[in-house]
Amino acid sequence: MLEGKIAVVTGASRGIGKAIACKFASLGATVIINYNHSAVKAEEVKSQIEAAGGCVEVMQCNVSDYVACEVFFKEIIKKFGRIDILVNNAGITKDGLMMKMSEEDFDQVIKVNLKGTFNCIRFVSRQMLKQRQGRIINMSSVVGVAGNAGQMNYAASKAGVIGMTKSAAKELASRGITVNAIAPGFIETDMTDVLSDAVRETSVAQIPLGRFGKPEDIANAAAFLASEEAGYITGQVLHIDGGMVM
Ligand code: NAP
Repeated sequence: MLEGKIAVVTGASRGIGKAIACKFASLGATVIINYNHSAVKAEEVKSQIEAAGGCVEVMQCNVSDYVACEVFFKEIIKKFGRIDILVNNAGITKDGLMMKMSEEDFDQVIKVNLKGTFNCIRFVSRQMLKQRQGRIINMSSVVGVAGNAGQMNYAASKAGVIGMTKSAAKELASRGITVNAIAPGFIETDMTDVLSDAVRETSVAQIPLGRFGKPEDIANAAAFLASEEAGYITGQVLHIDGGMVM
């Protein structure tokens, strides 16, 4: 389904990004696995994909760094000649009630989740416009739609990603580039591992399907949005949350 495609997945050393990278590679794409700090884990993902016969490259880049992103995308284009798919998945949380939230924790989350998404769209678009073809998938969150106590910074960043997705979809549609967002609910990764048992119980109680999702639940949807078959879908937000936010 993705044979011959060049796909960049940010934050693919762990969790959802890793699952997306593995899925895309299994469908025939050459995948560039991006990470920020977890070099060893990124190399492990590479080995896993290669063992399954996939094509993969690992590249470090802090997506919140505008200049580093420019260099990152230039290097990819130099090496592979094109970029067909970008998944803006890299993200962080720095939770806390608003009255206690530090300026630094607010800024850092916005910088990685929102500005990082802008940086990558900014530099991939130039190439996709030339190609007159491309798929951009941005990782939002149900929290960006519904809000969440203790996550004002994160919710704002993920709501911003939705606005960014719709704006980019409108700017890029005439050149055959689609831009969509995925809004996951609670997914089993390092990000949700930190939740206490009490919070997990309360969270599961809010999910009609009665369980946290798996990274593969998100990867399957990302593969569809990245495919030729999804060519008439743009500017949309796909909720994958077991029915948590309808
Ligand atoms: P995770 O397990 O914590 O993994 C985060 C990934 O992002 C890691 O690969 C990390 O790389 C990378 N990353 C962080 N900061 C980066 C930066 N500045 N530059 C490049 N890469 C960076 O998170 P996850 O749960 O898989 O979440 C993935 C995405 O889904 C995030 O955008 C998150 O907000 C969103 N999401 C997750 C859930 C959930 O329940 N898990 C729900 C809704 C939305 P390093 O390891 O190198 O730091």
